[in-house]
Amino acid sequence: MSDIQAILASARTGVMTRDDMRLLLSIEEREQLDALFAAAYAVKQEFVGKTAYYRGIVEFSNICRKDCYYCGIRRSKPDVERFMMKEEEILKGARWAHENNFGSVVLQSGERSDPYFVDFVEDMLRKIKALSDGKLGITLSLGEQSPETYRRWFEAGAHRYLLRIETSNRELYAKMHPPDHDYNARVQCLYDIRDAGYQVGTGVMIGLPLQTIDHLVDDIEFFREMDIDMVGMGPFIVSDNTPVAELVEDTEALHSRNFILALKMISVVRLQLKDVNIAATTALQALKPLGREMGLKAGANIIMPNVSETIYRKNYQLYNNKPCIDEDSGLCSDCLERRIVGIDEEIGYGEWGDSPHFRKRNQNFKLES
Ligand code: SAM
Ligand code: SF4
Repeated sequence: MSDIQAILASARTGVMTRDDMRLLLSIEEREQLDALFAAAYAVKQEFVGKTAYYRGIVEFSNICRKDCYYCGIRRSKPDVERFMMKEEEILKGARWAHENNFGSVVLQSGERSDPYFVDFVEDMLRKIKALSDGKLGITLSLGEQSPETYRRWFEAGAHRYLLRIETSNRELYAKMHPPDHDYNARVQCLYDIRDAGYQVGTGVMIGLPLQTIDHLVDDIEFFREMDIDMVGMGPFIVSDNTPVAELVEDTEALHSRNFILALKMISVVRLQLKDVNIAATTALQALKPLGREMGLKAGANIIMPNVSETIYRKNYQLYNNKPCIDEDSGLCSDCLERRIVGIDEEIGYGEWGDSPHFRKRNQNFKLES
């Protein structure tokens, strides 16, 4: 048996070493890649099932106080028309998701923490809960906030929070962000999110310039140590006219490497963490039309169709070639359903789709307290 086969066979029941993960993330051969994806898919089937859960995502504002060097809506990017959706427009997206039996929505935006914004979101959460009779699950992805704000939004009805650490390597984090973006503060936010009662999601960008395979192994260990419930990670994609874009010599070569690396990360995270939710993110689809379906085949189990008003999508370009900017939600969702059923998966309509990991953690917490 080859090293790879031996690692894959024991990963199904045990925990991999750093060397094992390094080897899997370095696979280049087609046959070995297929074996990796198949092993991760088997673990997914065993621990979370073959159901893909939808989270309809509303990207409601591109106004951001941060200046992350890689992001297409960073504060100092000059050529971005800033917008904030009106309350009714956000509710329309949520209502559409509810009527189409999506089970959950994600509210995402640039980062703001001014009192108007905090109140606005709190009010929105209560209205989304009311319009769906409490049925629609709500994930937030609104960046770093105070413990008080996390608590208020939780009490208003949000129950999951996604805050990517972006990279768990401090030096790389410092290279990808301005000096006032503090790695420790971001980690603290993950603890605050947990303390407020949310299911906790984090993730990284895969294939950032200067990032090594060892950094990615550290990232997976970080997810495990933080005992997170869900992972939202995707390939880094160049956004023109950003400082990180200047570090990239051959964009096409970087993107094709990042696509495969992102699929490998999904598989290795599935093998190592087993029962968490893992998203097949839009960035995969930006690099390949069937990227998200390939993500599901590599071990992911969550899909986040865009239910935002079409007119705003062109201004929420985190990176080049973001897909579906001209399609309305209905079209996007129909073609997605066909594609998911086409790869022999079911869709978890009308369900929140919490990760088994969270259910176990919650049970243990109740038993202890
Ligand atoms: N502002 C919030 C935050 O940063 O947590 C939420 C919205 S932010 C746009 C969501 C995610 O977009 C970030 O966590 C980052 O990983 C991702 N992102 C930004 N620029 C990207 C790029 N060029 N390629 C891939 N992902 C990117
Ligand atoms: Fe703002 Fe999030 Fe983009 Fe950073 S990644 S600039 S916080 S929107």
